[in-house]
Amino acid sequence: MKTGLLIVLSGPSGVGKGTIYSRLLERMPDLTVSVSVTTRKAREGEIDGKHYYFVSREKFASMRENGELLEWAETVGNCYGTPRKPVLDRLAEGKDVLLEIDVKGAVQVKRAYPGCVTVFVLPPSVEELKRRLVGRGTESDEQVAARLALAEKEIAEHGIFDHSIVNADIDKAVDDVIKIIENEKRSKNIC
Ligand code: 5GP
Repeated sequence: MKTGLLIVLSGPSGVGKGTIYSRLLERMPDLTVSVSVTTRKAREGEIDGKHYYFVSREKFASMRENGELLEWAETVGNCYGTPRKPVLDRLAEGKDVLLEIDVKGAVQVKRAYPGCVTVFVLPPSVEELKRRLVGRGTESDEQVAARLALAEKEIAEHGIFDHSIVNADIDKAVDDVIKIIENEKRSKNIC
């Protein structure tokens, strides 16, 4: 049986990758998702085991040390990681798996699984990214500045990704990712 395609969606904080991810799942219901583990506290409405597995720092460290994470990163003060086994099991069953993770994590996945397809989501401009981050109203001025500085560094390195798309219009961005997935599946003969 053919293995599935591992798709990694990444990009700077505030670029809208979470929205693209949700829309993709609506449009491509056969995609399998991975539930990440995180040390951050659940936000209102978030369900343990659905949005994330919320774990202690100790539990996260033991998962990391036992090789249970496919990749992991510490970003904005919290640790995030992708449990390895469910992803590899689904791929082995021939299912396509979608990860929505930060740039450091995406780089690790590409190194470990060169056959995966990595997609970087770019903002129309850094000014627009700033406007979105400020508009979200969830971060302090200092946090916005830190996220923007990191975003500029990440954007400068986007050439290491297999594909880059610009999220100026959400429908167009989702169409672009779908086209990338379909082309990759065709070229890898996973249909
Ligand atoms: P949030 O706290 O807003 O849910 O996510 C913060 C950042 O962590 C986002 O950029 C998101 O893509 C990233 N993230 C979520 N899960 C993972 C994961 O399993 N691994 C990595 N490397 N990043 C993740």
